[in-house]
Order: sequence, then structure tokens, then C-alpha cells
Amino acid sequence: MASFKILLLPGDGIGPEITREARRVIDWLGAKGIATFEVEEDLVGGSAYDAHGEAISEEAMKKAHAADAVLLACVGGPKWDDVPYEKRPEAGLLRLRKDLELFANLRPAICYPALADASSLKRDVIEGLDILIVRELTGGVYFGEPKEIIDLGNGQERGIDTQVYETYEIERIASVAFELARTRQNKVTSMEKRNVMKSGVLWNRVVTATHKAQYADVALEHMLADAGGMQLVRWPKQFDVIVTDNLFGDMLSDVASMLTGSLGMLPSASLGAEDPATGRRKAMYEPVHGSAPDIAGKGIANPIAMIASLGMALRYSFGLGEAADLVDKAIAAVLDKGLRTKDIMQAGRSEVNTAQMGSAIIQALDEIAG
Ligand code: NAD
Repeated sequence: MASFKILLLPGDGIGPEITREARRVIDWLGAKGIATFEVEEDLVGGSAYDAHGEAISEEAMKKAHAADAVLLACVGGPKWDDVPYEKRPEAGLLRLRKDLELFANLRPAICYPALADASSLKRDVIEGLDILIVRELTGGVYFGEPKEIIDLGNGQERGIDTQVYETYEIERIASVAFELARTRQNKVTSMEKRNVMKSGVLWNRVVTATHKAQYADVALEHMLADAGGMQLVRWPKQFDVIVTDNLFGDMLSDVASMLTGSLGMLPSASLGAEDPATGRRKAMYEPVHGSAPDIAGKGIANPIAMIASLGMALRYSFGLGEAADLVDKAIAAVLDKGLRTKDIMQAGRSEVNTAQMGSAIIQALDEIAG
């Protein structure tokens, strides 16, 4: 039986509550003999700062490097608002992304039929929606140098961030998008701002060349990122895979996420380069949402984004597509039954807490697996 190492990083706020439910699903998969999972756990974010004075320890980084997949819940909270910038909870996340070289962030936006009415858009606009945003994660304006605030000496300061991309960075993210499109509807939309940004001109040129050289069978269209934002809320079903840079991807994926209702529903994956020797990629899976300090400790958080993130790990890191489908079906089945955590509660449905939602998903897994 295949064996996989998972590092669980529950993090802060609601993290430990939702991680507990994902752990139950891992144990269920193990008990069913789908694979053997060797699970380790460690601290990240504010909880790691409290224990070690750093947002992630060297020991935890070692475990992350050794794992087949890292499953991280969420970090942050008001308790750590005043810690030094380089030790803030998010620094743990950024270090994981940087050191594991996780350059491709995958965010699916899928509309579960049972939740179509919870969206701020009309049902016919989003029903059946299934798009995937592929965001470049380790380059662009979040990392480019110079990045500083300069005192101009005249009572003024100047804040500088630098948007910078090199050919290889665009090639590798475009390749991920094209490869994924081949497993879906075979269409990629590349978004940049080539009308006003040099990095956009290069982005457009390199995506076009990568397409021509290796992926001519995939449909490719280019769209300015601002127009893309508009099209995402006008008629999102026109898209299959969207590939874009770090900054635009941050915003566009948040827009896409709200098409489907609640933050508590949205998983994501971050992938690194393929190791030529093993064919495996370093990978981290995490919900899109934050640590929800307003509801932490109350046992009412929605664990679905965390469980769906585990589902993505099954699909993209472990090659267990059927098990991933099973998890997705169990989530859909529970929603069809009318069970809702508070964040997605609708009139006439039954409100459940975090643990009850987890139990219902395990029960649905049992029913579907037979
Ligand atoms: P948030 O995502 O934590 O919360 C936004 C709203 O959504 C809140 O009302 C919250 O209760 C609700 N919510 C989020 N996840 C939910 C879930 N699973 N179930 C039910 N309700 C849920 O965003 P925020 O309030 O802007 O940030 C809170 C903290 O999280 C901050 O410290 C922020 O820096 C951090 N943060 C971390 C990540 C991450 O770990 N990847 C991402 C975003 C924000």
C-alpha cells in the first residue's frame, strides 16, 4: 500500500478546531486501506511565536521539507498585532512558501448546487461553476527589490515595491496552468496588464511562446487583469483555468472565491517544481480563509475548506484521484442533506457545529464508499 507523510500545521484561531476534523478524514482513509498516512504535527504562526519566538521553528521547517504534503490551517490574530514585522504569524507562511519554492497557487472556485442561493450573484450565473485560478506565488511585487520606505528628508517618505518577473518564472507557472487545463476543459485565460506594465508585456510574450512550443492543443486567451475582474462577476462560467501573477492573483482569486458563497468553503494548493528523480512536487494545502479570531474557540467554524484542502492533497500530491472525488462527494452530500455551519446557514436548513459537520462528512464517506 502506498505510504505518504503529512505534516499538519493547525496554526492559530480556529485552526486547531478545523484540523481535528481533517485528521478524522485522514484516519478514515487510512482505516479503509486507501493508503497509509504517517502524520506529524507542529506549530506555525502566532502559536509558534509564543513557543519559540519565531513564526516557524527550524524543526518544523525540517518536517515540512521531509513531508509529501503540508496541510496548514490558518495563522494570525490580534494577539500578535504588535510582534516585530519579521516574526509576525504570516512570516511562517511566507517562509514555508519561499523555502519549499511553492511557486504555483491553485484556487478552485466550485459552486455546490446546494449553496447556489448563498452567492451574491444570481443562481444561473454561478450554478455549475468550476474554475481554477493559478496564481504565481513566489515572485512579482510581493518579493521584488527594492522594497522599502525611504525618508526623503523633507518631511516626506517614499514607499517602494518592485514588480519583477523573469522568463523562467512565467514559463513554469504557465506550464502548470496548461497541464491542469488538459485534465479539465482544456482552456487557459492568461491575465496581466500589458497595456501599462513592462512585466505584463513579458508575461504575455512568454505565455504565448510556452503555449506555442508545448501546449498548442490547449485553447489560450489573453485578457487584461482589470477586464478579467469584471468578467469574473459578469459571466464566470466562460473561464476554465485562469493564470496570473502574484498581485492580480491575490485579488482575482478573492473575487472568485466569493462567487461561491463563504470563505469557510474554499481550499487551496501551493505546488513547487517537479523533482525529476521522484516525479513528486513539494506541496502545501490550506484553506483560503484566515484564523477567524471572532469565532475561535467556539466550536462553530466551518471545517469544509480544511477537509477540501486535504482532498486537493489526495488529488495533486498523492495521486489518489478517486479518494479525492470521494471526499468532494461526501461534502456535497452533507450540504444536500441541508446541514450547515453558521457561516453558510440558510432558512429551513439545520445548523451544526464544527464537530457535527465533521461527523456528518465521515458518515457520508461511509455511505458513499459502501
Ligand atoms: P478571516 O478569513 O479569518 O475571517 C473573515 C470572516 O470570515 C470572519 O467573520 C470569520 O469568522 C469568517 N470565517 C473565516 N473562516 C471561517 C470558517 N472556516 N468558518 C466560519 N467562518 C469563517 O479573515 P480576517 O478576519 O481578515 O483575518 C483574521 C486573521 O487571519 C488575521 O490575523 C489575518 O492576518 C489572518 N489571515 C490568515 C490567513 C492564512 O492563514 N492563510 C489568510 C487570511 C487572513
